[in-house]
Amino acid sequence: MKITYWGARGSIPVSGAEYVKYGGDTTCIEVTSRDGDTIIVDAGTGLRKLGNKALASGRKHVSLLFTHAHWDHLMGFPFFKPIYMKGTKIDLYGCPYAQESVKAILSKTMMAPYFPVEFGMIQAEVTSRGVCDSAFAIGPVEITPIQLNHPNQGIGYRFMEDGKSFVFLTDNELTLRHNGGASYEEYVKFSEGADLLVHDAEYTKEQYQLTKGWGHSVYTDALRLALDARAKQFGLFHHNQERSDADLDKLVDDCNRIAAGEGAATRCFGVQAGTETEL
Ligand SMILES: [Zn+2]
Ligand SMILES: [Zn+2]
Repeated sequence: MKITYWGARGSIPVSGAEYVKYGGDTTCIEVTSRDGDTIIVDAGTGLRKLGNKALASGRKHVSLLFTHAHWDHLMGFPFFKPIYMKGTKIDLYGCPYAQESVKAILSKTMMAPYFPVEFGMIQAEVTSRGVCDSAFAIGPVEITPIQLNHPNQGIGYRFMEDGKSFVFLTDNELTLRHNGGASYEEYVKFSEGADLLVHDAEYTKEQYQLTKGWGHSVYTDALRLALDARAKQFGLFHHNQERSDADLDKLVDDCNRIAAGEGAATRCFGVQAGTETEL
Protein backbone atom coordinates (compact mmCIF):
# COMPACT_ATOMS: atom_id res chain seq x y z
CA MET A 1 0.00 0.00 0.00
CA LYS A 2 1.38 3.39 -0.96
CA ILE A 3 0.16 6.66 0.54
CA THR A 4 0.75 9.84 -1.48
CA TYR A 5 0.15 13.20 0.15
CA TRP A 6 -1.35 15.91 -2.11
CA GLY A 7 -2.46 18.40 0.54
CA ALA A 8 -1.93 18.66 4.31
CA ARG A 9 -2.92 22.25 5.13
CA GLY A 10 -5.96 22.89 7.30
CA SER A 11 -8.94 25.18 6.78
CA ILE A 12 -7.68 27.33 3.89
CA PRO A 13 -5.04 26.93 1.17
CA VAL A 14 -1.96 29.12 1.64
CA SER A 15 0.99 30.10 -0.51
CA GLY A 16 4.28 31.88 0.07
CA ALA A 17 7.95 31.32 0.72
CA GLU A 18 7.25 30.23 4.30
CA TYR A 19 5.09 27.26 3.17
CA VAL A 20 7.32 25.64 0.55
CA LYS A 21 8.39 22.53 2.50
CA TYR A 22 5.01 21.34 3.83
CA GLY A 23 2.89 22.88 1.07
CA GLY A 24 -0.21 25.02 0.97
CA ASP A 25 -2.91 22.75 -0.51
CA THR A 26 -5.72 21.48 1.70
CA THR A 27 -6.54 17.85 2.54
CA CYS A 28 -6.12 15.27 -0.19
CA ILE A 29 -4.47 11.87 0.26
CA GLU A 30 -4.14 9.03 -2.23
CA VAL A 31 -3.93 5.40 -1.20
CA THR A 32 -2.73 3.05 -3.94
CA SER A 33 -3.34 -0.66 -3.45
CA ARG A 34 -0.94 -3.37 -4.57
CA ASP A 35 -3.31 -4.02 -7.48
CA GLY A 36 -3.20 -0.36 -8.53
CA ASP A 37 -6.61 0.75 -7.18
CA THR A 38 -6.73 4.52 -6.63
CA ILE A 39 -8.42 5.46 -3.36
CA ILE A 40 -8.55 9.20 -2.71
CA VAL A 41 -9.48 10.69 0.66
CA ASP A 42 -11.00 14.16 0.53
CA ALA A 43 -11.27 16.72 -2.22
CA GLY A 44 -9.22 19.56 -0.78
CA THR A 45 -7.26 21.75 -3.18
CA GLY A 46 -4.56 19.05 -3.42
CA LEU A 47 -7.03 17.11 -5.59
CA ARG A 48 -6.29 19.39 -8.57
CA LYS A 49 -2.73 18.09 -9.03
CA LEU A 50 -3.82 14.49 -8.42
CA GLY A 51 -6.39 14.93 -11.19
CA ASN A 52 -3.68 16.07 -13.59
CA LYS A 53 -1.65 12.97 -12.75
CA ALA A 54 -4.69 10.71 -13.20
CA LEU A 55 -5.32 12.20 -16.64
CA ALA A 56 -1.69 11.91 -17.71
CA SER A 57 -1.58 8.26 -16.69
CA GLY A 58 -4.92 7.45 -18.36
CA ARG A 59 -6.60 6.37 -15.12
CA LYS A 60 -10.33 5.81 -15.77
CA HIS A 61 -11.60 4.67 -12.37
CA VAL A 62 -11.07 6.23 -8.93
CA SER A 63 -12.74 5.91 -5.54
CA LEU A 64 -13.18 9.17 -3.63
CA LEU A 65 -13.77 8.93 0.13
CA PHE A 66 -14.85 11.86 2.27
CA THR A 67 -14.17 12.61 5.91
CA HIS A 68 -16.72 15.42 6.15
CA ALA A 69 -18.25 18.34 4.28
CA HIS A 70 -16.24 21.35 5.45
CA TRP A 71 -15.01 23.56 2.61
CA ASP A 72 -11.33 22.77 2.91
CA HIS A 73 -12.14 19.09 2.23
CA LEU A 74 -14.41 19.73 -0.79
CA MET A 75 -13.17 22.80 -2.64
CA GLY A 76 -10.86 20.93 -5.00
CA PHE A 77 -13.68 18.83 -6.49
CA PRO A 78 -14.73 21.19 -9.32
CA PHE A 79 -11.03 21.41 -10.32
CA PHE A 80 -10.57 17.64 -10.57
CA LYS A 81 -10.36 17.41 -14.38
CA PRO A 82 -11.30 13.70 -14.67
CA ILE A 83 -14.92 14.63 -13.76
CA TYR A 84 -15.24 16.38 -17.14
CA MET A 85 -14.02 13.33 -19.09
CA LYS A 86 -16.42 10.81 -20.64
CA GLY A 87 -15.47 7.21 -19.87
CA THR A 88 -14.25 8.00 -16.35
CA LYS A 89 -15.91 6.36 -13.36
CA ILE A 90 -15.84 7.95 -9.92
CA ASP A 91 -17.20 6.12 -6.88
CA LEU A 92 -17.99 8.43 -3.95
CA TYR A 93 -18.02 7.20 -0.34
CA GLY A 94 -18.79 9.05 2.87
CA CYS A 95 -21.27 9.48 5.68
CA PRO A 96 -24.07 11.75 4.48
CA TYR A 97 -25.31 12.58 8.03
CA ALA A 98 -28.37 14.80 7.60
CA GLN A 99 -27.89 15.13 3.81
CA GLU A 100 -29.50 12.80 1.32
CA SER A 101 -26.17 11.59 -0.14
CA VAL A 102 -22.48 12.42 -0.51
CA LYS A 103 -23.24 13.27 -4.13
CA ALA A 104 -25.80 15.85 -2.97
CA ILE A 105 -23.22 17.45 -0.68
CA LEU A 106 -20.67 17.62 -3.50
CA SER A 107 -23.10 19.00 -6.05
CA LYS A 108 -23.54 22.04 -3.81
CA THR A 109 -19.88 23.00 -4.37
CA MET A 110 -20.88 23.72 -7.98
CA MET A 111 -24.15 25.50 -7.29
CA ALA A 112 -25.04 28.96 -8.65
CA PRO A 113 -24.21 31.67 -7.75
CA TYR A 114 -21.06 30.23 -6.13
CA PHE A 115 -19.60 28.46 -9.17
CA PRO A 116 -19.92 28.98 -12.95
CA VAL A 117 -20.12 25.32 -14.03
CA GLU A 118 -23.04 23.21 -12.84
CA PHE A 119 -22.71 19.70 -11.40
CA GLY A 120 -24.84 18.52 -14.35
CA MET A 121 -21.94 19.35 -16.71
CA ILE A 122 -19.90 16.49 -15.25
CA GLN A 123 -19.20 13.86 -17.91
CA ALA A 124 -17.85 11.10 -15.66
CA GLU A 125 -20.12 8.37 -14.34
CA VAL A 126 -20.53 9.11 -10.63
CA THR A 127 -21.83 6.61 -8.06
CA SER A 128 -22.44 7.43 -4.41
CA ARG A 129 -22.37 5.14 -1.39
CA GLY A 130 -23.10 6.00 2.23
CA VAL A 131 -20.56 4.62 4.69
CA CYS A 132 -20.79 5.61 8.35
CA ASP A 133 -20.00 2.72 10.67
CA SER A 134 -19.49 -0.48 8.75
CA ALA A 135 -16.31 -1.75 7.12
CA PHE A 136 -16.06 -2.14 3.35
CA ALA A 137 -13.38 -3.04 0.81
CA ILE A 138 -11.98 -1.48 -2.33
CA GLY A 139 -9.90 -4.07 -4.19
CA PRO A 140 -7.57 -5.72 -1.66
CA VAL A 141 -7.83 -2.81 0.82
CA GLU A 142 -10.13 -3.24 3.82
CA ILE A 143 -11.47 0.08 5.07
CA THR A 144 -13.02 0.73 8.49
CA PRO A 145 -14.58 4.08 9.38
CA ILE A 146 -14.79 5.71 12.83
CA GLN A 147 -16.75 8.78 13.94
CA LEU A 148 -14.74 11.93 14.66
CA ASN A 149 -15.03 14.62 17.33
CA HIS A 150 -15.74 17.55 15.05
CA PRO A 151 -18.45 20.22 14.60
CA ASN A 152 -21.04 18.88 12.09
CA GLN A 153 -19.42 15.44 12.52
CA GLY A 154 -17.04 13.49 10.32
CA ILE A 155 -15.39 10.11 9.86
CA GLY A 156 -11.83 8.84 9.91
CA TYR A 157 -10.60 5.68 8.23
CA ARG A 158 -8.30 2.73 8.78
CA PHE A 159 -6.88 1.09 5.66
CA MET A 160 -5.54 -2.48 5.87
CA GLU A 161 -3.70 -4.44 3.21
CA ASP A 162 -1.36 -7.41 3.59
CA GLY A 163 -1.16 -6.90 7.37
CA LYS A 164 -0.12 -3.23 7.06
CA SER A 165 -2.35 -0.49 8.46
CA PHE A 166 -2.74 3.21 7.80
CA VAL A 167 -5.02 5.23 10.09
CA PHE A 168 -6.16 8.64 8.91
CA LEU A 169 -7.87 10.89 11.46
CA THR A 170 -8.07 14.53 10.44
CA ASP A 171 -10.33 17.20 11.91
CA ASN A 172 -10.54 15.38 15.22
CA GLU A 173 -10.52 17.08 18.64
CA LEU A 174 -9.14 14.46 21.01
CA THR A 175 -9.82 16.32 24.25
CA LEU A 176 -13.46 17.27 23.71
CA ARG A 177 -16.37 14.95 22.96
CA HIS A 178 -18.53 16.32 20.13
CA ASN A 179 -21.94 15.09 19.06
CA GLY A 180 -21.55 11.59 17.59
CA GLY A 181 -17.80 11.37 18.30
CA ALA A 182 -15.86 8.52 19.91
CA SER A 183 -13.94 8.38 23.19
CA TYR A 184 -10.16 8.74 23.45
CA GLU A 185 -9.91 5.05 24.34
CA GLU A 186 -11.81 4.15 21.19
CA TYR A 187 -9.29 6.10 19.07
CA VAL A 188 -6.42 4.34 20.82
CA LYS A 189 -8.00 0.96 20.06
CA PHE A 190 -8.74 2.00 16.47
CA SER A 191 -5.11 3.11 15.93
CA GLU A 192 -3.49 0.24 17.86
CA GLY A 193 -0.21 -0.82 16.28
CA ALA A 194 -0.74 1.24 13.13
CA ASP A 195 2.20 1.25 10.75
CA LEU A 196 1.24 4.83 10.01
CA LEU A 197 -1.06 7.21 11.91
CA VAL A 198 -1.78 10.57 10.31
CA HIS A 199 -3.67 12.80 12.74
CA ASP A 200 -4.87 16.38 13.04
CA ALA A 201 -2.13 18.33 14.87
CA GLU A 202 -3.32 21.84 14.13
CA TYR A 203 -2.72 23.68 17.37
CA THR A 204 -0.17 24.53 19.99
CA LYS A 205 -1.35 24.61 23.61
CA GLU A 206 -1.39 28.43 23.48
CA GLN A 207 -3.56 28.55 20.34
CA TYR A 208 -5.97 26.02 21.81
CA GLN A 209 -6.92 28.45 24.58
CA LEU A 210 -8.83 30.39 21.90
CA THR A 211 -9.94 27.52 19.68
CA LYS A 212 -11.33 24.89 22.05
CA GLY A 213 -14.45 23.39 20.49
CA TRP A 214 -13.42 24.15 16.89
CA GLY A 215 -12.76 20.47 16.25
CA HIS A 216 -8.96 20.21 16.09
CA SER A 217 -6.20 18.85 18.33
CA VAL A 218 -3.09 20.16 20.03
CA TYR A 219 -0.11 18.38 18.42
CA THR A 220 1.05 16.94 21.74
CA ASP A 221 -2.40 15.37 22.30
CA ALA A 222 -2.18 13.78 18.85
CA LEU A 223 1.32 12.54 19.74
CA ARG A 224 -0.09 11.07 22.96
CA LEU A 225 -2.55 9.05 20.86
CA ALA A 226 0.30 7.83 18.61
CA LEU A 227 2.32 6.76 21.67
CA ASP A 228 -0.62 5.13 23.48
CA ALA A 229 -1.53 3.24 20.29
CA ARG A 230 2.15 2.35 19.67
CA ALA A 231 1.96 3.62 16.11
CA LYS A 232 5.22 3.11 14.21
CA GLN A 233 5.03 6.44 12.37
CA PHE A 234 3.05 9.53 13.31
CA GLY A 235 2.38 12.18 10.67
CA LEU A 236 1.33 15.63 11.91
CA PHE A 237 -1.51 16.85 9.66
CA HIS A 238 -4.03 19.68 9.04
CA HIS A 239 -1.31 22.28 9.45
CA ASN A 240 -2.49 25.59 10.80
CA GLN A 241 -2.71 28.32 8.15
CA GLU A 242 -0.18 30.47 10.04
CA ARG A 243 2.32 27.63 10.65
CA SER A 244 5.51 28.31 8.67
CA ASP A 245 7.91 25.55 7.63
CA ALA A 246 10.31 26.59 10.38
CA ASP A 247 7.54 26.54 13.01
CA LEU A 248 6.34 23.14 11.87
CA ASP A 249 9.89 21.75 11.98
CA LYS A 250 9.95 22.76 15.65
CA LEU A 251 6.71 20.89 16.42
CA VAL A 252 8.07 17.77 14.69
CA ASP A 253 11.35 18.01 16.62
CA ASP A 254 9.41 18.40 19.85
CA CYS A 255 7.35 15.28 19.06
CA ASN A 256 10.47 13.22 18.30
CA ARG A 257 12.13 14.50 21.49
CA ILE A 258 9.09 13.53 23.62
CA ALA A 259 8.79 10.10 21.94
CA ALA A 260 12.51 9.39 22.39
CA GLY A 261 12.34 10.60 26.01
CA GLU A 262 9.69 7.95 26.69
CA GLY A 263 11.72 5.29 24.95
CA ALA A 264 9.01 4.90 22.30
CA ALA A 265 9.78 3.60 18.82
CA THR A 266 7.31 6.02 17.22
CA ARG A 267 8.87 8.26 14.56
CA CYS A 268 7.23 11.66 14.00
CA PHE A 269 7.15 13.67 10.78
CA GLY A 270 5.17 16.58 9.40
CA VAL A 271 3.12 15.52 6.37
CA GLN A 272 4.54 17.24 3.28
CA ALA A 273 2.48 17.59 0.12
CA GLY A 274 4.22 15.92 -2.80
CA THR A 275 5.76 13.10 -0.75
CA GLU A 276 4.73 9.49 -0.15
CA THR A 277 4.96 6.68 2.38
CA GLU A 278 5.25 3.06 1.29
CA LEU A 279 3.95 0.49 3.78
ZN1 LIG B 1 -10.35 20.71 7.80
ZN1 LIG C 1 -13.50 20.31 9.43
